[in-house]
Amino acid sequence: MVILLSNDDGIYSDGIIALEKNLQGMGEIYTVAPDREQNSMSHALTLHRPLRVHEAGPGRLAVDGTPTDCVKLALTGLLPVRPDLVVSGINKGPNVGDDIIYSGTVSAAIEAALLGVPAIAVSLVTFEGFKFQAAAEFTATLVSRIQEGGLPLETLLNVNVPPLPKEQIKGWRITRQGKRHYGENIVERTDPRGKKYYWIGGDDLGFAHEDGTDCMAVHEGYISVTPLQVDLTNYKLLNENCIPSFNWP
Ligand code: MN
Repeated sequence: MVILLSNDDGIYSDGIIALEKNLQGMGEIYTVAPDREQNSMSHALTLHRPLRVHEAGPGRLAVDGTPTDCVKLALTGLLPVRPDLVVSGINKGPNVGDDIIYSGTVSAAIEAALLGVPAIAVSLVTFEGFKFQAAAEFTATLVSRIQEGGLPLETLLNVNVPPLPKEQIKGWRITRQGKRHYGENIVERTDPRGKKYYWIGGDDLGFAHEDGTDCMAVHEGYISVTPLQVDLTNYKLLNENCIPSFNWP
């Protein structure tokens, strides 16, 4: 099995190094990741400038681009072989609920799914004191199960791991995407030349306490695994015919 690793925290992040260590021996491992932090880049693709790639160790390539750039390059010619699986992470910080839309970690996995390669995004739900071991071990087990059973086309798994030692994690749950609450804290200041500038804050105001969600599973001490799809169609609207009908032209 050929496994491609990527992330949005950059190729030197401890999170991706933990994946390299724990997936070693499960197959042929390649790492193609941004050369610096690319958080909240979502699915940005670099089209307005060339991308440079440099070696960052055996089987490790650093790209001066986004997570999506990395996976696209890796799957379309940069690697000598086509990966069977893409694993993105382990991210430093949660990717639950609304985070998923902004996440570079999840987008690397989405890009793989778009290109027909099964993918997993893995995130550690904390912003400090990162201990990746339990998350890396769970990922290794999940990878070996996918190795046996595969994943449906255009599907990716979004994994979020509570920041607990392995013994304290209660288990894992299949979940749906929940709802995160962010603060609407935009700082407005004046620069030294008298012009206004704005800084988007990231206050975490908690989440909607709904059973079955990614937010809730992690909150209760479980690893959350959410199957995501690339198709954003709202099938409910499509089937229930709830868009008002009118004649046009
Ligand atoms: Mn990140």
